[in-house]
Amino acid sequence: MRGQKNTPLPDDIWWATRAARGLGVYVHVPFCERRCGYCDFAAFAGLDELMESYVDTVILEIQTRVHAPASTLFVGGGTPSRLPPHLLRKLLCAVPKEAGAEVTVEMNPESASPAVIAAAAEGGATRLSFGMQSVRPKVLAFLDRSHSPRAVEEAVSSARSAGLAVNLDLIYGTPGESRQDWAASLEAALHCSPDHLSCYALTVEAPTALGKAVANGTKSAPQDDVCADRLVETTACLAKAGFTRYEISNWAREQPCRHNLRYWSHGAYVGVGCGAHSFDPVRSVRRWNVRHPMTYVERISACVRRSDTAKNAMQTASSRSGSSFSGDVSLNLPKNFSKDSQRGRKENFWEDLAEDPWEGGHEVLHDKILAEERLMLGLRRVCGTVVPVDRVPSFLVEEGFCFWSEARLRLTEKGMLMAGEIVTELLLSFERW
Ligand code: SF4
Repeated sequence: MRGQKNTPLPDDIWWATRAARGLGVYVHVPFCERRCGYCDFAAFAGLDELMESYVDTVILEIQTRVHAPASTLFVGGGTPSRLPPHLLRKLLCAVPKEAGAEVTVEMNPESASPAVIAAAAEGGATRLSFGMQSVRPKVLAFLDRSHSPRAVEEAVSSARSAGLAVNLDLIYGTPGESRQDWAASLEAALHCSPDHLSCYALTVEAPTALGKAVANGTKSAPQDDVCADRLVETTACLAKAGFTRYEISNWAREQPCRHNLRYWSHGAYVGVGCGAHSFDPVRSVRRWNVRHPMTYVERISACVRRSDTAKNAMQTASSRSGSSFSGDVSLNLPKNFSKDSQRGRKENFWEDLAEDPWEGGHEVLHDKILAEERLMLGLRRVCGTVVPVDRVPSFLVEEGFCFWSEARLRLTEKGMLMAGEIVTELLLSFERW
């Protein structure tokens, strides 16, 4: 098994290159029932009252920043399935999409009601991604997940009835999870007949509740060798079940997730919503939005308030002067700003804010960083990436970590267990060159 060469999906390279073209849109929905201890995403509990104004603000941002139909759309979170069905539908409908676009919505099994799933389908969703994580209650409890294994089956069945493809997300390596527990989770996932599976090792991020618990010794950390064993078992189990691996942690029956291939291929994407990242490969700019949903909504509310104040002042002035006031300066934010921003002009309206009121920051990626990222992301794909042959240390191939195919460097299964170390070796070699 170890050292075995991975075979890409038949059209893997085609997908990887095609997915990088066109525009991808990521929409972030930050609302969660509660914050899971291991979660490092922009996810917030107790803010459900903000949902309506948040969705309106996201739609404004879409109208302002998404200037072409999306070939892939991914609505993630947080928990998008916590939105009321009418808001989820409204959000999905607001994104312009190419014909045949891949549209994914992330859902948690406990909130993926038939009504929410129907709303996703009406909004143009083509696939749903459910956070199953595990079938074992003790593992779900460690992860602070509240759904029952039965809820996953019901949600998948509703997705099927709505004609949608299904991905299941699983997490392995949770402390206390045995080999048998993980095998049971894989078996339960396969029992649902998903089209796609994403299996990731549990990672511990320092600022999370789990990170703090591990640091103070009240919880154990996942063990690298156990995670490596689980990954090997997963690969064997899913190959037997007819799945093809196309990325270190992702398997598909037929079609890979085109949106995620875009990330791994350095394709263009616009991220909208709090904390969302965007990447412009032409200008090599990565940009991210403010992280907290209240700040995100407040930034635009401040503009609207100024708009209303300006409008009220003009109405007052016009009534004092006896002239009529048409109200035309009501500043329809989406329309005006969208038009002007497309022309590259800055509206006076925004002048005391950052040019883009949602932006939390941005960076221009220099060639060296871009090359490193391309290597790291590209090697995650089974189809690999293009690397100058003479810069690859020969032992990586001779010792079975990598192999060449169609002028691309690819990781073997053994290499996939040590992808981080291999990338480090390659980068050191590039620096010596
Ligand atoms: S449900 Fe998902 S996004 Fe929300 S807190 Fe848990 S892991 Fe994070």
